[in-house]
Amino acid sequence: MIYDYEPSVDLAMTTNAFLLKGAAQRLKDAGLKRINVSVDTLIPEVAKDIAGKDVLKNVLEGVDEALHVGLKVKVNMVPMKTVNAQEIVSVLEYCKERNMSIRFIEYMENKFAAKEIQGMKSPELLAILREKYEFTDDGFDGSSPSHYYTMKDGYRFGIIEPYEDDFCKKCNRIRLTAEGNLIPCLYFDEAMSISASIKKGDIKGAAAVLKEVVRTKPEKNRWGGEDDEVSSRAFYETGG
Ligand code: SF4
Repeated sequence: MIYDYEPSVDLAMTTNAFLLKGAAQRLKDAGLKRINVSVDTLIPEVAKDIAGKDVLKNVLEGVDEALHVGLKVKVNMVPMKTVNAQEIVSVLEYCKERNMSIRFIEYMENKFAAKEIQGMKSPELLAILREKYEFTDDGFDGSSPSHYYTMKDGYRFGIIEPYEDDFCKKCNRIRLTAEGNLIPCLYFDEAMSISASIKKGDIKGAAAVLKEVVRTKPEKNRWGGEDDEVSSRAFYETGG
């Protein structure tokens, strides 16, 4: 429906990939071009610890099926000390072998996350990657929040650094949840429902909600702020 309305839109779906194997072909047939999947580990027990469920087999099979039917796959990994730090290179290699792009995302504290988890910041990640690879710093690309790097063989990876002061400078992201809420910023709680207008076919009402969400989009997040603030909405509600 979205492509019928505007074929040029860059539409991607963020999924945990648990049921992707059985859905990939239907998604492709519906016109989807790209999916985002988290692969934080390639070790089943670690995946079970992170997800609270034995998920890895489904996820990896789902990713392979998505590639098989011709979907582009973008992988996200959140490196965490004592959880998956030792897998940074292996997850990157997993993506490289399959010609999937990878973005390492600095761990963002939020009230649902276990207190004892410590994320890894970009300099630590880069030091690990430099032990194995040579790469150049490409900086930012358009409105993408990723800081990009290119390896000698042309493979490109990104790092998302929400603690950097200029991280939000070019952000143009508005997120639409499955419940029909528009979210102007990943960090803040604010959200506005657009579902009632859409269900009524009220295009003007929907446009007004969208306009208000864009108007109230915050300038930047507060991760790393002086008050040690954390985000209070779970990321699984918001999407990527
Ligand atoms: S924290 Fe908010 S403003 Fe910053 S990049 Fe994320 S969504 Fe955009």
